[in-house]
Amino acid sequence: MSSVKVRFAPSPTGRLHVGNLRTALVNYLFARKHGGSFMLRIDDTDEERSSAEFETAIRDDLNWMGMGWDCEDRQSSRLKRYDEALAQLVQAGRAYACYETPDELSLKRKAQLSAGRPPVYDRAGLKLTDQEKAKLEADGRRPHWRFLLNDAEVSWHDMVRGDVAYHMSSSSDPVLMREDGRVIYTLASVVDDIDHGITHIIRGEDHVTNSAAQIQLFEALGSSTPMMGHVALLAGAGGENLSKRLGSLSIDVLRQDGIEPVVIASLLARIGTADPVVPQSQLAAVIDSFDLGKFGRATAKFDPSELIKLNSQIVQELDFADVETRLADSGVTGDAQFWLAVRGNLATVDEARVWWKICTQPLTPVIDAPMVTNAAAALLPAGDLNSAVWSSWTKSIAAETGVKGKGLFMPLRLALTGRDAGPEIAPLLAIMGRKRVIRRLQGDTA
Ligand code: GLU
Repeated sequence: MSSVKVRFAPSPTGRLHVGNLRTALVNYLFARKHGGSFMLRIDDTDEERSSAEFETAIRDDLNWMGMGWDCEDRQSSRLKRYDEALAQLVQAGRAYACYETPDELSLKRKAQLSAGRPPVYDRAGLKLTDQEKAKLEADGRRPHWRFLLNDAEVSWHDMVRGDVAYHMSSSSDPVLMREDGRVIYTLASVVDDIDHGITHIIRGEDHVTNSAAQIQLFEALGSSTPMMGHVALLAGAGGENLSKRLGSLSIDVLRQDGIEPVVIASLLARIGTADPVVPQSQLAAVIDSFDLGKFGRATAKFDPSELIKLNSQIVQELDFADVETRLADSGVTGDAQFWLAVRGNLATVDEARVWWKICTQPLTPVIDAPMVTNAAAALLPAGDLNSAVWSSWTKSIAAETGVKGKGLFMPLRLALTGRDAGPEIAPLLAIMGRKRVIRRLQGDTA
């Protein structure tokens, strides 16, 4: 498979959520896996619903995910091409003018349904004489344009669903252009895919019937059809429809919640496949192990709590180099030693701030067993507070007080951190510093 070219084609009418990000990711991984090209296409022909803010947000989210694109285009800059393509189809007898209003169309549909017939457009537009069209236009009506489907079976080998066949007799001729001259996605997308040299169209299974009509459009425009792959949609952990909850599963919310982009990628690249989810700490590893062929037809179950679980697994394995800049940006100026001391206790990288504050800013100690903490303050060995100090120090406190185990360690933890749980104290001593350690053991805010 040489020169693979795929595209992610979001409409900038909302934020990316896990559902559409998954489509983007699958395209991105497919391109990278095959040494191909990943295109960002902005489907912004719906002027009312599209916004520059959403477009910027989509770009930010993709960049944050590390999913850079190789080239881009936008539909609003290609309107002339869509007009040309429509003219070509009209010329070839594959597109025709229709004059019904939405109300008239809905009446037709109702009549068909009550007569027990499928609500397929009756091609009335096709039967209009030039005279009748002229009259309608003189009455102020403007045509919308439909694609004349071939009454044939359309079949393709889907990269996800296997062999798919659709008979077009139960489909209405799709509208390509509205009466106000605005192009419909069905046409625009095919013209783009042809002009951009897209080799594989990978999108959600909600586009399957679209694809059947679009395959005829590719042919009518004299082009070969790209390979198609329709990935199953996402459902909640219990199989419930996710659409209502997608707002809370938007990428910016996950980002604010401290979920690592590579964790989202690890999960979204595997749900819907038979393979287990393996948290990876680098996107390169997600690319390496990606295989579109492993995606199944069954609805993919997405469980947000799995993201949180995977996130802490990954955070606990991240190297200092992976997080150094982010820590510094959030005011955590600790070194690798600090990171290694706390990472095992974190659910998100951001939580390192909590422990940095505990080590470096005043807190009010909790004094639970003064006998233990007083002895500890008196017995703290001189010299460097390296990790090795901990064991000789606690042994000497035990010898002095006769207290061992939890009864010894918990009062130390409470006095030094103000909390009853957290990372091992030994490597934190040096970061706190001798003065602070002693003052906290004496019950002073320090
Ligand atoms: N803008 C379309 C959508 O958001 C793109 C579909 C496609 O990939 O062709 O559904």
